[in-house]
Amino acid sequence: MSDIVIVGGGVFGLSTAAQYAHSSKVSVIDKFEIPSPISASTDYNKIVRLEYNDEIYAEMAVEAMRFWQGEGSDTLPPGLLTDTYSHCGRISVVPPESSPRYTFEMESLTLLQEKFGRCQDVSEYCNDLTCNGKFSQFRESQAKGKFRYNRDCGIGIAAKSLLVMKQYCKSLGVTFIENDGAACVKSSDDGVVVSLESGAQVNGRKALIACGANTPSLLDLRQNVKSTGLYVGHIQLTEQEFEKYRDIPVVFNPVVGYFFPPDPETRVLKICASASSTYDLASNGLLPRYKKLEPDTVKSIPIQSVVQIRTLLAEYLPDLLYAADGQLREIQDCKICWISDTSDSNFIIDEVPENPNVFVSCGDSGHGYKFLPNIGSYIMARMENNLSSKLAKKWAFRESVWDNMTIPWRIEHKRRHVDQIQWY
Ligand SMILES: Cc1cc2nc3c(=O)[nH]c(=O)nc-3n(C[C@H](O)[C@H](O)[C@H](O)COP(=O)(O)OP(=O)(O)OC[C@H]3O[C@@H](n4cnc5c(N)ncnc54)[C@H](O)[C@@H]3O)c2cc1C
Repeated sequence: MSDIVIVGGGVFGLSTAAQYAHSSKVSVIDKFEIPSPISASTDYNKIVRLEYNDEIYAEMAVEAMRFWQGEGSDTLPPGLLTDTYSHCGRISVVPPESSPRYTFEMESLTLLQEKFGRCQDVSEYCNDLTCNGKFSQFRESQAKGKFRYNRDCGIGIAAKSLLVMKQYCKSLGVTFIENDGAACVKSSDDGVVVSLESGAQVNGRKALIACGANTPSLLDLRQNVKSTGLYVGHIQLTEQEFEKYRDIPVVFNPVVGYFFPPDPETRVLKICASASSTYDLASNGLLPRYKKLEPDTVKSIPIQSVVQIRTLLAEYLPDLLYAADGQLREIQDCKICWISDTSDSNFIIDEVPENPNVFVSCGDSGHGYKFLPNIGSYIMARMENNLSSKLAKKWAFRESVWDNMTIPWRIEHKRRHVDQIQWY
């Protein structure tokens, strides 16, 4: 019997396993081999940003970034994640002053500068994506607007970092049960039993359910967590194009989309469409619909999102819009990536009501990846009943209020469900 059974080896699950492994016998169960093709973080890269206007997350992001940049702790060896991190900076389009996002960004920068001494070197440029020549790669850009360059930001090499965490957990003796999903979790005052799709059972003292967007398939979270699908596409660069763009920062336009420095191993450049998302109608938005599990019905991304991605290319990276043969460059490996949303963007990290010894960590709300090095210490503290009451309250199982004002700067409300999508 394990002390701790963790269902889901994504960001929250692996981070928790790495913390518990120093004092407990831990098993991690995943439906796929980790990094799992359905994890929101099995990807080329993700932004590790500090900007939060909420002091708790800002402090956690500052703490996480120290680990990404090589610091160690009692539970993480120094340098564990440095090969999977690049402090590349970020250029963001400054939103209109009347928008909620503008307020969020300004409050965040003030908090980080005044309270944490971070993001000190932030500069703004009008209609100049090169940022006064710093990024000459963007000389041909047609993009207009005010751009803010913040060098205190980075990216994690996402799938690789999950693999590093998994290998670290293995080195600490964590048992991995992969390619066998959990089908049901039962709890009692003595412990927990997790039944797997294969029919096997895993017993433990406590369980953590950390299945990301798929968590409501295992637990009744009473409509408080929903699954939101976001759109991602990629373009393949040539060797020459890669050399030109390898050292760019992340470029983030909250209305059209955002892109990353190309991946050094594959020369693939990832582009996400902003301000558009989808959901599953049949489950009233509770469950994700993975291309991996239903390739014939969840085919790629909407044609409209590909148009959005090409609009971004035309404005920001015009020389990459067309391929060498003069045809529009293919937007490849298009996929919907599912996150687990709460209506206030706060995580849920709590014991599941009426299920003693079963805990849940979900509701990542699209901002959980950056916390890979440290979220596990908070989850473990909650499971051992020694999380500060402030944090326990913030992440408590609670009612979500889903209306048109929910997260107005992040989620758009006139969206199509998966079965209405015209696929690219
Ligand atoms: C397009 C996109 C962009 C994003 N960008 C950023 C960013 O820039 N910065 C940032 O900080 N965050 C970002 N995020 C959010 C980040 O990816 C998530 O917050 C994070 O992955 C959540 O971690 P998790 O462990 O909760 O879930 P996941 O990482 O999704 O992991 C869930 C795990 O559970 C497993 N699982 C599912 N069902 C079962 C089952 N029944 N039995 C066993 N195992 C199961 C899966 O296989 C998977 O391994 C982004 C997300 C998306 C979709």
